[in-house]
Amino acid sequence: MPAPNMELIVSLAKRRGFVFPSSEIYGGMGGFWDYGPLGVELKNNVKAAWWRQMVQLRDDIVGLDAAIIMNPRVWEVSGHVAGFSDPMVDCRNCKFRFRADDLKGPPSEIACPNCGNRGTLTEPRQFHLMFQTRVGPLEESASVAYLRPETAQGIFVNFANVATTARKRLPFGIAQIGKSFRNEITPGNFIFRDREFEQMEVEFFVHPAQEDQWFAYWVEERLRWWTDVMGIGAERLRLRPHDPDELSHYSRQTTDIEYAFPMGWSELEGVADRTDFDLKAHAEASGKSLSVFDEASGEHVTPYVIEPAMGVDRALLTVLLDAYEEQQVEGEKRVVLHLRPSLAPIKVAVMPLLRNRPELVELGQRLASDLRLRLPATYDDTASIGKLYRRQDEIGTPFCVTVDVETLADGAATIRERDSMTQQRVAISALPDRIASLVSGAPWEGGQPERSPAGE
Ligand code: ATP
Repeated sequence: MPAPNMELIVSLAKRRGFVFPSSEIYGGMGGFWDYGPLGVELKNNVKAAWWRQMVQLRDDIVGLDAAIIMNPRVWEVSGHVAGFSDPMVDCRNCKFRFRADDLKGPPSEIACPNCGNRGTLTEPRQFHLMFQTRVGPLEESASVAYLRPETAQGIFVNFANVATTARKRLPFGIAQIGKSFRNEITPGNFIFRDREFEQMEVEFFVHPAQEDQWFAYWVEERLRWWTDVMGIGAERLRLRPHDPDELSHYSRQTTDIEYAFPMGWSELEGVADRTDFDLKAHAEASGKSLSVFDEASGEHVTPYVIEPAMGVDRALLTVLLDAYEEQQVEGEKRVVLHLRPSLAPIKVAVMPLLRNRPELVELGQRLASDLRLRLPATYDDTASIGKLYRRQDEIGTPFCVTVDVETLADGAATIRERDSMTQQRVAISALPDRIASLVSGAPWEGGQPERSPAGE
């Protein structure tokens, strides 16, 4: 299968209101993006699917929502102040800046990937990725604080609070969804690498002797989530264990879940074995005990931590890329997003076959209002039926409902399914239940080929 095309997704996202460049009327700002009406729904659905799977369906993980700005000691102790940097290389000729990791060879030997000149690249220099800000009215160094570059530390510093109040015993996890900030050297590839982004992380605390077994469990479990819950094609996903020299300062082993992005296989999610690095460091620096009594072994231990960490924006990009298809239908191009119904921003769109018949318009609007009480529904009568279907296909709406003249006589309407473009006639009284069950995954069976409805 060819890699999906990024330009098509960027253009669809802009055209249909998924993602806009941030502060676009002033020329935008590199690495910052705004989510439009459909984007915010899709993003919320991705987050809800993760939260349900990782927190609500499990007895061994609880949630947290920590502050973005924390005591700066957190970042000194975690190693980020000293070590959270990327090596950066500048071209003296064209002034382009690169991540040294992205260059295919030492700067002294290769040509600048932008202008092609040789001998113009600087030696790598460390570039710090944490954004600084100041807290309070004083302009002095004591007031310096950081925007968090990962959500994980909010979990570590709350470890004792959560373990005690939620009465959790090992193994157990703490989950968090929230914004993170990194002053990336080269933001880009649309929303793949941003300077402001959202992360979903679990820190899963285990007895040190069970480190490997839980690491393997989470790698498998997370891969399964991408295929089974997000509906991403398995052939576009792979696991990539890190080489020892690329491990983060806190990690003993890390496996990335990678996706075949248009720019090549790249990280979608990382599962890291952070050992007891963070809890030990915070315990030592704060003087607070961060060990727990493990009933199974009868020991006091500082737990080891397995961390599945992913980015919401990258997930959204992946979902869009993977769902996108262009088809030829009766000689015309049809763009369709094959989103899982659970992820689709709008679950059902109601449309009257004839918009110049007030009784059909009124019926359609009433039906949409009824459906809206159950799930995200919309009403549209601003174009012909064929056009309205295509509009919904392009944003991934799984079901359309059409009311026509027959509806007035027989009280039934037509449901049309996005992927197969087949239709079923259903009594209006049964429609909300039927749509709700389809959206929650009931199979679509017995659809009839789309007919050109009479009267169009
Ligand atoms: P990369 O190697 O791409 O810089 P990383 O290894 O630093 O990523 P982690 O620190 O493991 O990333 O962060 C966990 C997840 O957070 C990543 O898998 C990714 O989905 C997301 N993420 C990290 N940095 C960014 C970013 N700048 N923009 C969007 N998402 C990001």
